[in-house]
Amino acid sequence: MQRTKVVDVLTGQDKGKEICVKGWVRTKRGNKNVAFIALNDGSSFHSVQLVADLAKFDEDTLRKVTTGACISATGLVVESQGSGQSVEMQMTSIEVLGEADAETYPLQKKGHSLEFLREIAHLRFRTNTFGAVFRIRHAMAFGIHKFFNDRGFFYIHSPIITGSDAEGAGAMFRVTTLDPVNPPKTETGTVDFKEDFFGGPTNLTVSGQLEAELAAMALGQVYTFGPTFRAENSNTSRHLAEFWMIEPEVAFNEIKENMDLAEDLLQYLVQYALDNCKDDLEFLNQQYDKELLDRLRFVVANKFERLNYGEAVEILKGSGVKFEFPVDWGTDLSSEHERWLVEKHFQKPVILTNYPKEIKAFYMKQNDDGKTVRAMDVLFPGIGEIIGGSQREENYDKLLNRMHEMHIPEEELYWYLDTRKFGTCPHAGFGLGFERLILFVTGMANIRDVIPFPRTPQNAAF
Ligand code: ATP
Ligand code: MN
Repeated sequence: MQRTKVVDVLTGQDKGKEICVKGWVRTKRGNKNVAFIALNDGSSFHSVQLVADLAKFDEDTLRKVTTGACISATGLVVESQGSGQSVEMQMTSIEVLGEADAETYPLQKKGHSLEFLREIAHLRFRTNTFGAVFRIRHAMAFGIHKFFNDRGFFYIHSPIITGSDAEGAGAMFRVTTLDPVNPPKTETGTVDFKEDFFGGPTNLTVSGQLEAELAAMALGQVYTFGPTFRAENSNTSRHLAEFWMIEPEVAFNEIKENMDLAEDLLQYLVQYALDNCKDDLEFLNQQYDKELLDRLRFVVANKFERLNYGEAVEILKGSGVKFEFPVDWGTDLSSEHERWLVEKHFQKPVILTNYPKEIKAFYMKQNDDGKTVRAMDVLFPGIGEIIGGSQREENYDKLLNRMHEMHIPEEELYWYLDTRKFGTCPHAGFGLGFERLILFVTGMANIRDVIPFPRTPQNAAF
């Protein structure tokens, strides 16, 4: 018999029919006469209840039906006797596909800490929490492609291995096939990268932006959505060494349109989650964060606050709050400042613009004041920075000057400079950290819990 997914069974569409379900046992309870098996196959947050009349089943088989075991069962879909579900299945046959020894299966009991579950990341998919998180993560990835596709953007695949280390977004991971113990040497004794796989030093990308700009200058509106890598040793709850980033880049957009696009995208995605991930969000709201749903609805319903970096610094300085790191014009804001602005002062998402040029990347458009650039950071409650972006410097001379000032070798980025030499135009874009988005939407507190296999300093286990 063809398998019916639990999500479809629970709609009640098969009431009165004989069906087959397959999945993993969440719980088994019962009495002398009857067993109740909660079966989950991942298609929904909810499990379907299977009711087994013990007299009709072989004792040995039912003994193997323990938490974590995988079974295939057939039976009749009937109106549920119990509360909490509309239908259940009266089991007529069962086959145990895979046993899970009750003595050694680590998820035998409920209520494990997230820290413990991180240590068994290969099994944590099977919990309610991680089922919910990863279904939401999927929905957000799909929503991102839908948002951009519906607006006529083209999805560009930027390279993961890059020959340039001048992008400036963070420390990079070297990619090499050279023998680390005994690498080939040049006459002067340095490592001879000519012998390396690509004939020169290569790294894992920190961002697809520069490549996306090349595409935007021909295709108009593009976005990347891929893995990025940063070798910073920051062991925080918001940083990963391998994370996914969404980077739209749009020809003819200036900073205002860039902010509008960022705000539209974030509100669209949060609404998409509210519309498509109801059961999972309700569970997370109840289990981890009672304000989650309210916060999501609030973000969709209210315009983001927009102000200059300089104004934000004045507000922070006048706040009377004793921050761990002092703020003054010219300092980079840290997440305590960002979160105070969002959570305490404005109590809504904030977009800051016009940052000092010294703390921002070389490619940002320089303002006429000679001091600031047209950067924009979107700050979110509980997260701090969720998006970083800017209008780009489209003037060849100004861009080249800034590269010289910041000691960025122009030979390495000649291809980037070419866009400003041939048919340049105003354009803008930003990077949205996918895991930061998932943190916000799920209400989870640690970024290690919103990516299946987190890579962090000292940890790249399976
Ligand atoms: P932060 O100041 O929070 O370290 P950043 O300014 O270095 O971030 P950008 O280079 O602006 O980050 O990257 C764009 C976006 O990518 C950020 O707004 C954030 O959402 C996300 N991001 C950056 N670094 C990381 C990381 N190590 N792990 C997860 N997401 C990240
Ligand atoms: Mn940033």
